[in-house]
Amino acid sequence: MKVIVTGGAGFIGSAVARYIIENTIDEVLVIDKLTYAGNLESLNDVWTNERFSFKQIDICDRQALDNIILSYTPDIIMHLAAESHVDRSIDNPSSFIETNIIGTYTLLESSLAYWRKLDKIRQSTFRFHHISTDEVYGDLHGTTDLFTEKTPYSPSSPYSASKASSDHLVRAWHRTFGLPTVITNCSNNYGPYHFPEKLIPLMILNALEGKPLPVYGNGQQIRDWLYVEDHARALYLVATKAKVGENYNIGGHNERKNIDVVNLICELLEEFVPNKPNNIQFYKDLITYVTDRPGHDQRYAIDSSKIYQDLEWKPKETFESGMRKTVHWYLNNKIWCEHIKDGSYVRLRQGIIN
Ligand code: NAD
Repeated sequence: MKVIVTGGAGFIGSAVARYIIENTIDEVLVIDKLTYAGNLESLNDVWTNERFSFKQIDICDRQALDNIILSYTPDIIMHLAAESHVDRSIDNPSSFIETNIIGTYTLLESSLAYWRKLDKIRQSTFRFHHISTDEVYGDLHGTTDLFTEKTPYSPSSPYSASKASSDHLVRAWHRTFGLPTVITNCSNNYGPYHFPEKLIPLMILNALEGKPLPVYGNGQQIRDWLYVEDHARALYLVATKAKVGENYNIGGHNERKNIDVVNLICELLEEFVPNKPNNIQFYKDLITYVTDRPGHDQRYAIDSSKIYQDLEWKPKETFESGMRKTVHWYLNNKIWCEHIKDGSYVRLRQGIIN
């Protein structure tokens, strides 16, 4: 099969590209605008594979999308391109509206035009897989409930509202125009190649430099963590095996308070890197509580029983095993981190694509 992965230079998209190239005989075309979050060095493992290709494209550019989709003739489009950082959506929501809503609309229109030209057999096997977040369901504060596929949408931030919007568009393009879509809503991912502005890599890298570890509010916010490679495996399963029109929640059954996540990182670093910078005694001494994010949701937690039952998917990593792998990865991939920190990943990618 031929699979287009939008946003494949990002954290999860690059894991999906690696998963498909390393575990299947399918071909992958990554299309990505290469915003600050897109990093071609995250695709190093697959870049020279003959089944892999890359095009720099903005999903809001209809003409460019039509050209690439018509010439590549994909069997599956896995749509991960998005603005994804909640704090940035609070500071400046416009790119979230542009990419997550208008971009998804543009990709849907281009995919529909392509799908309508396919013969009946290819029409029936084609899939448009929209990758979304559990944040569309809002806050689970004050309850032990879990998000199911039937939980009503109640997004809190500009990011989650834009993702909720895109989910509704995808459903409408299936229901109204017959485009064969599937949607997945996943909990917080963690693992290799995570951009250092996000909680887990930020804490690892700050701690290694002896910098403060900023924890929002009282650190009691709960997230359900999933190792990114478990997510990539689930996504490929849904894209290739799920019935048209289905949606699946994907989670790790790993509810953790943010402060417990930070404490675990500090404990792992005590074990792996006992020689600390700046004469600090314990990594935990670097924890600093900072003003909470406005509208911060207290708890997200996913009920993944539907994907367990229908597609027999289960995460392979526990939170502890996944975190050990993640901390090891950041310790062993300092160049990838350095190139983001000094901005050279942007110059390097310009050299590769020009
Ligand atoms: P990311 O920010 O790491 O990567 C996003 C990628 O999309 C980047 O490579 C970026 O260059 C690209 N992109 C942005 N705007 C684009 C545009 N207009 N056209 C083409 N490409 C564009 O994000 P991520 O963490 O890998 O998330 C991927 C998807 O998964 C997103 O849709 C996100 O909502 C969803 N998701 C993420 C998580 C998580 O924990 N990270 C959890 C659930 C769902």
